[in-house]
Amino acid sequence: MSELTAVITGAASERGIGAATARRYASEGWAVVILDLDGERSAKVAADIGNQYAVPAFGYTADVTSEESVLEAQRAVAAEVAAGNLPPVGALANIAGITSPVPFLETTLDIWNTVMAVNATGTYLVTKAFLPDMIERGWGRIVNMSSVSAQRGGGVFGKVPYSSAKAAILGFTKALAREIADTGVTVNAVTPGAVDTDIRVGSTDEQEAKLAKDIPVGRTATTDEVAAVITFLSSRDASYLTGTTVDINGGSHIH
Ligand code: NAD
Repeated sequence: MSELTAVITGAASERGIGAATARRYASEGWAVVILDLDGERSAKVAADIGNQYAVPAFGYTADVTSEESVLEAQRAVAAEVAAGNLPPVGALANIAGITSPVPFLETTLDIWNTVMAVNATGTYLVTKAFLPDMIERGWGRIVNMSSVSAQRGGGVFGKVPYSSAKAAILGFTKALAREIADTGVTVNAVTPGAVDTDIRVGSTDEQEAKLAKDIPVGRTATTDEVAAVITFLSSRDASYLTGTTVDINGGSHIH
């Protein structure tokens, strides 16, 4: 039986960073819970991972922009923990996110609010829902998904709302890490550059070529390269890391 459960948001897209992260947690022996917009898809991806790695795995519907939806999912997870079907939640990876590939003057308030809601408010709501049990148990790992866009602007895909929301996640990470540093719960962020996922579907060949040219190592990241950092930050070995930002960008933003 796995000792702890990792909750991963935005993990129902099989080619995405979230699903790769869920697989990586499972391969390291964690039980996994997938939270995403489509509950059936979440349950299916979780079941496949559970079967592949022989760990408990559940998937639920959660719209990370809705407090009610997030709390409902948290209660469902807590019920499985109470029933002995899942070990306690030890890690939360806030990965759900959307982009806004729109030039600033073409953005609308609706685009701004939606991008902020999924990326930043979602990180806030899901963390608030799962943190109390971690603090009560005196151990936990929270890893938040920011982006290199937060550090150097949106580049080809991100643009202003996305970069702003991902920068908010960095402030959130540092402030929360500092506030709860003595509880046994760490809070860190990752800032990937371009990663091979469906989030880039729709980008033009010209944009892709420009992207690769801007990356010193000459290629985009695999989802596994991001997942490995997230699970390391969730490990017992990462006990002295809190409030940090780990850059995963092939050298495209060295600072
Ligand atoms: P993806 O589109 O494959 O995955 C995003 C997931 O978030 C999807 O499964 C989607 O259903 C889910 N989601 C969207 N809105 C949601 C909501 N309201 N509630 C719950 N789930 C929701 O994209 P990805 O590339 O795997 O991106 C994952 C994360 O990594 C995002 O936060 C993204 O901003 C970030 N990121 C991606 C890259 C990249 O180049 N792919 C780079 C840096 C950061």
